[in-house]
Amino acid sequence: MSTSLASLTIRQLQNELKTGHISPVDIVNDVIESINNKDSEVGAYLSINAEEAIKSAKDADTSKPLGGIPISIKDLINVEGQPCSCGSKILKDSYVSTYDATVIKKLKEAGAIPLGRVNMDEFAMGSSTENSGIQITKNPWDLKRIPGGSSGGSAASVANDTAIASLGSDTGGSIRQPSSFCGTVGLKPSYGRVSRYGLVAFASSLDQIGPVTKTSEDAAIILNAIAGKDPLDSTSLDSDVPNYLESMNGEIKGLRIGMPKEYFTDGINPEVLSSIHKGIETLRELGAEIIDISLPHTEFAVSTYYIIATAEASANLARFDAVRYGNRVSDPTNIIEHYRKSRAQGFGEEVKRRIILGTYVLSSGYNDAYYVKAQKVRTLIRNDFTKAFEKVDVIVSPTAPTPAFKIGEMCNDPLQMYLADIFTIAANLAGICGISTPCGFATEDADNRLPIGLQILGPALQESTILKVSDAFEKATDWHKQRP
Ligand code: GLN
Repeated sequence: MSTSLASLTIRQLQNELKTGHISPVDIVNDVIESINNKDSEVGAYLSINAEEAIKSAKDADTSKPLGGIPISIKDLINVEGQPCSCGSKILKDSYVSTYDATVIKKLKEAGAIPLGRVNMDEFAMGSSTENSGIQITKNPWDLKRIPGGSSGGSAASVANDTAIASLGSDTGGSIRQPSSFCGTVGLKPSYGRVSRYGLVAFASSLDQIGPVTKTSEDAAIILNAIAGKDPLDSTSLDSDVPNYLESMNGEIKGLRIGMPKEYFTDGINPEVLSSIHKGIETLRELGAEIIDISLPHTEFAVSTYYIIATAEASANLARFDAVRYGNRVSDPTNIIEHYRKSRAQGFGEEVKRRIILGTYVLSSGYNDAYYVKAQKVRTLIRNDFTKAFEKVDVIVSPTAPTPAFKIGEMCNDPLQMYLADIFTIAANLAGICGISTPCGFATEDADNRLPIGLQILGPALQESTILKVSDAFEKATDWHKQRP
């Protein structure tokens, strides 16, 4: 074959494997070669476990659904024997996972090979991967720009053909937004669809693990492997897992697609807006019915999220006390100083900001005014979606209001950065599912095309429906086939 195996999709590799012309070892070697050739300028990987991956490839059973397919893993999902730093200095070089997260166990059972750890915003807090305490990851489409975040390493590795697919996590947009910026497909499953056991928690009521892939078909293949009830995660749902590939027949005639007026407002980059409108036109041509809807509490989503997410983070990150988890300073004079100095040194600015904010909104006297209030608004946001899904099957919007921004452009303005997630956050608050698929390019930079993502949201546990729509869209377009 003339094209590199690393550039193929899971489905294409499965077909190649069936012909017997290639082996899982060829695939793993090709991906490692691609990482060696191309990752130094992008910086998606924090580490790769080449030797072990080749060994697994030798034993791989290609009759399994993901047999012999190497997958990059966001650095907050535990893989036994591999480092897990969550993009943070506090864990770097000090923590090696002692167990497999349930998603990893399931991926391995399906035959997949975890190949390396990919970069992220520290503890998944951010939208650009610039908050990583370890390294900068660049957008393969334009090395002056960020890949999005927090799963920036996942999206950059898939876009750069240094991974066949990746696992990321999404608390407020972290799978969908980097997918939009890097021209990949990113699926956030409904809350509870996929076990969070072994995912280092940021905000436990919002976090979900999901795939970043080159096509929706590949996302369905991975979701088939990782979805389902897990006795080790009491919030995982005991609901049948359909075969997600079965709904993908390209047929969306008569499907009702909602366009929320609150998601098509001023402030969206004009090239993004025009690509989204063209994308929606394509869906209409495929026979879908486009219906105007309203999600009236949208304007409160970002502030609600930043109260709930920081509150939960302040509790979840307490475990990094440099006693059990985390690097410790060498010279504390007493235990309080031990905590204070180790945490001050180990955590980056954004993580500290959120721990302080989260502690504040939970503190006595402010709890009712902020945290309890935010929970009430969260219910209103969830009700908006429940009502909307009485009228429509799915909802479409831009995934992000802009294409990828320049490195350094937003770092000093956290509030501006928080707005990068304005269209993705509500889905996490409501617990519903969402996917981003490529729908065009912005050309604001004369030298580089910048990918744009179309977001498709569906009711809780309706991953089949959103995958069906994104797959139909991909069958009718070729945006997802473009490479940097
Ligand atoms: N960008 C959002 C944040 O910083 C979402 C991150 C995420 O989904 N992990 O919280």
